[in-house]
Amino acid sequence: MDAAPTLLYLSDMTCREFTATVGVVEERAVCLDRTAFYPGGGGLPPDRGSLAHEGREVAVVGIRRDGERLWHDLDGAPPPAGEAVTGRLDWPHRYGVMRHHTAIHVLCGVVYHLFGAVVTGGQIRSDRARIDFTLADLTRERVQQIEDEANRVIHEGRPIKVYSVSREALAAMDLVRTKEILVPEHVRQVRIVEIEGFDAQADGGTHVATTDECGRLRIVKTENKGKQNKRLEIALESTG
Ligand SMILES: [Zn+2]
Repeated sequence: MDAAPTLLYLSDMTCREFTATVGVVEERAVCLDRTAFYPGGGGLPPDRGSLAHEGREVAVVGIRRDGERLWHDLDGAPPPAGEAVTGRLDWPHRYGVMRHHTAIHVLCGVVYHLFGAVVTGGQIRSDRARIDFTLADLTRERVQQIEDEANRVIHEGRPIKVYSVSREALAAMDLVRTKEILVPEHVRQVRIVEIEGFDAQADGGTHVATTDECGRLRIVKTENKGKQNKRLEIALESTG
């Protein structure tokens, strides 16, 4: 079997259950020929969930990159190689991550458009997220302005489109929202995530389909991380 699995989450971010064939196995880990489990990266945590085989279910507690391989770490014995399994994501966890990730993208666009600030770091969880910007001055008025503008974009329910462009085409686009270019040198086709008509970024992560799925955004904390560096922490009101 080919070492590199088909990454279902790249094309279908609503996939929460899938069937796959077991490839190589370790004592408590398996590789699959296809998977919807996001391995983490880009500030996002990995997915968790379970694999079911012949009525027996084992929890997926971690995802590990190993060259082209993706190991699904299990909390029990793995299903045998060559067998069909059903993978299920912990959907509340994944959906929370997608909402917060999309909200962070809205925020990135807002601070870039308002102040020309770019991102220096961030961390996204299923129930909160934070992001650092190159911003010298973060007054109370500015925080309010950022929050209001972000909520306006969220409320518009803009579709999130995913497509890929060549590295050369990327260079010609105005997509510099991070201080360093994060796309590795060997990557020829770059995945673009666009909040339609608002902002686009090179991104390998998972997102919701429209901005209004984020729900109302609140900036719950700001922190001074240096003269030119400010941190914003956000929370989202549940969309029910
Ligand atoms: Zn992202």
